[in-house]
Amino acid sequence: MLLREVGYARPETVAEALELLAANDGARALAGGQTIVNVMKARAASPDALIDLNGLDELRGIDLAGDGTLTIGAMTTYSEIVASAEARARPILGEVCAQIADVQVRNRGTIGGNVCSNDPTNHLPPLMVALGARMTIAGRDGEREVSSGEFFQGVYLTAVGPGELLTKLMLPAGKADGFASVTLGVDGTCICSAAASLNGEVRIALGCVDAVPVDLRPASSDEQAVRDAVRGAGLAPPSDVHASSAYRTHLAEVLAVRAVEQAQKAGS
Ligand SMILES: Cc1cc2nc3c(=O)[nH]c(=O)nc-3n(C[C@H](O)[C@H](O)[C@H](O)COP(=O)(O)OP(=O)(O)OC[C@H]3O[C@@H](n4cnc5c(N)ncnc54)[C@H](O)[C@@H]3O)c2cc1C
Repeated sequence: MLLREVGYARPETVAEALELLAANDGARALAGGQTIVNVMKARAASPDALIDLNGLDELRGIDLAGDGTLTIGAMTTYSEIVASAEARARPILGEVCAQIADVQVRNRGTIGGNVCSNDPTNHLPPLMVALGARMTIAGRDGEREVSSGEFFQGVYLTAVGPGELLTKLMLPAGKADGFASVTLGVDGTCICSAAASLNGEVRIALGCVDAVPVDLRPASSDEQAVRDAVRGAGLAPPSDVHASSAYRTHLAEVLAVRAVEQAQKAGS
């Protein structure tokens, strides 16, 4: 289906992009376009104008600090993360980005677009929660930093408000991480996913079972403690053509155990 007529601007600075977004309530950021263009084609959304972020070099790149903190620009693509020597400081990040869809989507899709769309089936929202990411959001009045728990607010809804942009994500150091999912086919979207991090505390985030990633802190990484934490979360995921609510609930427990096992191996 053809797109409706839509305005287009390609700013050269973040400040200019913020001005354009603030000046038009109906304007939306365009990152890799792998979600928003499909949503527009399906007529599920019709922004008045697209503010193309692809000319903003200040939103790209991966920086590794001396303490192991990774800072990743919102416009960094999955392929750039997979290829990055710096990103290997937190190996799970590249491993999961390499699982997203196919090479065309990975070459265009960005880490910022993935978390800003907050589609519950996307790979990165649960991963960012388990890894304890922090996000920087810029508006015309300045910047603020939020935790990943504060960032994800509902299906397709995040802490990025009208007229604002996600500029970067920060990940603390750590290696004991895991991710497990059941997908629709080899390159398909997730039916259910789980990310785990055992760096200091045990943290698990479940995807596809609620509007936002379900953040769990089991008492230990023992299998029984992990299963108890998932069972105690009172999950009531939606049923759809791909999985019933009961099957997704079952998958969440199995995948949480697998993600923790991978994290244990990665940390040993
Ligand atoms: C065939 C196909 C299969 C896919 N399979 C998967 C999959 O298995 N797993 C997965 O995780 N994803 C999958 N996706 C989605 C893909 O990862 C998208 O790239 C991602 O959801 C959005 O990233 P984007 O850069 O393309 O963002 P866009 O589509 O350009 O933008 C998405 C939304 O985020 C907003 N936005 C983008 N960047 C910013 C920013 N910096 N600040 C504020 N708002 C911003 C936009 O306004 C828009 O509302 C798939 C997509 C396709 C087409």
